[in-house]
Amino acid sequence: MAELFESEESLFVEVALAKPVRREFTYAVDPSLVDQVSPGVRVSVPFARRREVGVVVAVSHECDLPASRVRRIYEVLDQQAVVGQDLLDLTRWMADYYVCAWGEALAAVLPAAMKREGEQRKAVVLKPAEGIGTQELEQLDGKSDKQFRLLRTLLEASGPLVRSEVLKRLGLSMSPAQTLVRKGWVLEEKVEPSTDSLTDDLDNGGRVRPDKLSEDQETAVSSMETALSDEKGGTFLLHGVTGSGKTEVYLRTIEKALELGQGAIVLVPEIALTPQTVGWFASRFGQVAVMHSRLTDRQRLVMWRRVQSGDLRVVVGARSAIFAPVQNLGVIVVDEEHEPSFKQGSTPRYHARDVAVVRAKRLGAVCILGSATPSLESFENARRERYRLLTLASRVNANTLPEVAIVDMKGEKGNPMISRVLRDRIVEAIGRKEQSILFLNRRGFSPTLWCSQCFEVVRCKQCDVAMTYHRGHGRIVCHSCCEEIVPPKDCPSCTAPGLRFLGHGSEKVEVVLAKTFPEARIARMDSDTMLRREDYEDTLAAFGRGEIDVLVGTQMIAKGLDFPRVTVVGVISADGALHLPDLRAAERTFQLLAQVSGRAGRADLPGRIVIQTHAPEHSAILHASRHDYLAFAEEELAQRKELSYPPFGRMLRIVLEDVDPSIVEKAAGEFAEALRATLGDKAQTLGPMPAPMAMIRGRHRHHILIKGPLDGPAFGIARNLLVHMMEGRTRPRITLDVDPVQML
Ligand code: ADP
Ligand code: ZN
Repeated sequence: MAELFESEESLFVEVALAKPVRREFTYAVDPSLVDQVSPGVRVSVPFARRREVGVVVAVSHECDLPASRVRRIYEVLDQQAVVGQDLLDLTRWMADYYVCAWGEALAAVLPAAMKREGEQRKAVVLKPAEGIGTQELEQLDGKSDKQFRLLRTLLEASGPLVRSEVLKRLGLSMSPAQTLVRKGWVLEEKVEPSTDSLTDDLDNGGRVRPDKLSEDQETAVSSMETALSDEKGGTFLLHGVTGSGKTEVYLRTIEKALELGQGAIVLVPEIALTPQTVGWFASRFGQVAVMHSRLTDRQRLVMWRRVQSGDLRVVVGARSAIFAPVQNLGVIVVDEEHEPSFKQGSTPRYHARDVAVVRAKRLGAVCILGSATPSLESFENARRERYRLLTLASRVNANTLPEVAIVDMKGEKGNPMISRVLRDRIVEAIGRKEQSILFLNRRGFSPTLWCSQCFEVVRCKQCDVAMTYHRGHGRIVCHSCCEEIVPPKDCPSCTAPGLRFLGHGSEKVEVVLAKTFPEARIARMDSDTMLRREDYEDTLAAFGRGEIDVLVGTQMIAKGLDFPRVTVVGVISADGALHLPDLRAAERTFQLLAQVSGRAGRADLPGRIVIQTHAPEHSAILHASRHDYLAFAEEELAQRKELSYPPFGRMLRIVLEDVDPSIVEKAAGEFAEALRATLGDKAQTLGPMPAPMAMIRGRHRHHILIKGPLDGPAFGIARNLLVHMMEGRTRPRITLDVDPVQML
């Protein structure tokens, strides 16, 4: 070893590894490999006692470490950089901003197949073996709850289910699957799915390129075109009511970018990645890379390579598509930019919209944030002229926005689920062979099982969550950890008999509808009925062909759908999000109502919306019923300002979790005290306090919130302090969430 370090030719690399340690690691490069290393290539290296894959982020001829501490890389895995300089810089920024390791940020960028050596894994699907059915299921019932749930789900599915997905949705480890396979009850198959994510033959839903743009569209497109040709680019907030033709503005801007030899990324919420949306882009641009969460590792890798080689110039995808290695990236579109799903819920906890703005800015590209209900952050940025505001004020073709009726459910006799008004609207729609969409953001039959003696609800033993009744399965289920039990007869808290099911979920809506409208063709879309992507696609296609009169669903149906024959939208309850302990509760409610309402009356037929609520005077509901975003935003911004909440201040959330409550409380106390002492009056430290979800899977949870000014040193100081305090600590588990979008 010694001679290597003395030689003139010695070379060292800094390697970023996906480990929760906020630094890079230095390795020596064997002379035979020197020609092959450069920033952005992957290498395999020894780490502790294992072999790991990392990304070279710097190369140098010097090394400060003593020779005995420097190990050699094993292998160089790429012939040229797989992470370009722009993504290296971007991930470096993310690591600082979101407080994670550079390697963790890079791991969010690279396709999974590039994060390990060796053969690419194929997707494994599970299906019940021939002849296996209710009899076997009954044998498992009450004996092995986990195998029972898995087999039941496989029997219910319309075809084989991807193993990793079904285990995740049921909150299971591999072992119940392995046991069922060993028994011969379930078959495992390796599959190589067709690359359905490359599109060139998709249906465009009858959408044609309009000859003439509206005046507002024209203005928007020409501003974008100017910015595209300009080296500096710019960030635009495209505020357009639902159906105002925002998508057409994106499409034209991308057309222009392609003419200029540039590429594009379009981010949409995962749920909006319908064949319909994808079809619009594909029919305009030919082959489009579609990146959604259900791609297999192999598909993702193939796509990544084709995008990187310049073969595919347009990428449409959910959150992580923001990292697509598009050549000469000219435009980034973030559609529905207000969507909280653009924020990743695990490390690195980045917000894809904010990363989009940063990435575009660094490249001098154009970033378009589009929404009918912009986040107040983006709206305020536009008011301060950090973003340019473009408005599409009305629906195209002079369509009017749908008429909205608010129904106060307190005034409905007998506490029905569907008010008279809504019932009448549905009847009318069916009579005219039009379609209705009913929305309720809650799956299952009844969200609570309630004791009329002690007023307690039945909760999960592991989580601080009321259990939801699923009638089809005859069980109550924890939506946090997926545990389920047969509903008890007597109250677990006070032992009184006579527990009652309270409230409604989408399963109940479907059942009640079927009773109320025996003639109607009804379908339900939620994650219980849509086990496979094919189910989702098939149901939407059937709806498009007019084979369904009423579509019931959860948020799965709230976004993006554009079906001309939908004239009635009913919101079964607008109140779900209103009472969440979240500073954005009103904003979320407003956005959701506006989105859902936007599904009706999109073509020539006028739309009618019915919003059912127990809070008819709430400003979010009133403003939504008037389609008045500006009034809502003014009012809400004034309140945020008063409290220095975002967008007038920034937040950082620290969550501490452990099975032992005393460990959590002690650490939370120490952290809060240190933060208060260090931050002084530079920022406010709130807490520690139990998190609104005070327990998940048996872990007790406390949180601390830091609220401070947008600028100034407070957050940098807090970050450094926290990183220092977390170092070497294994319990409790601590997570930092910069710019949190939910506080549960
Ligand atoms: P948004 O994204 O704002 O909800 P879309 O872009 O989906 O709106 O447009 C709504 C409908 O109007 C679509 O069916 C689209 O094909 C149509 N459309 C958009 N722009 C025009 C135009 N200039 N002329 C005619 N129809 C248009
Ligand atoms: Zn639970």
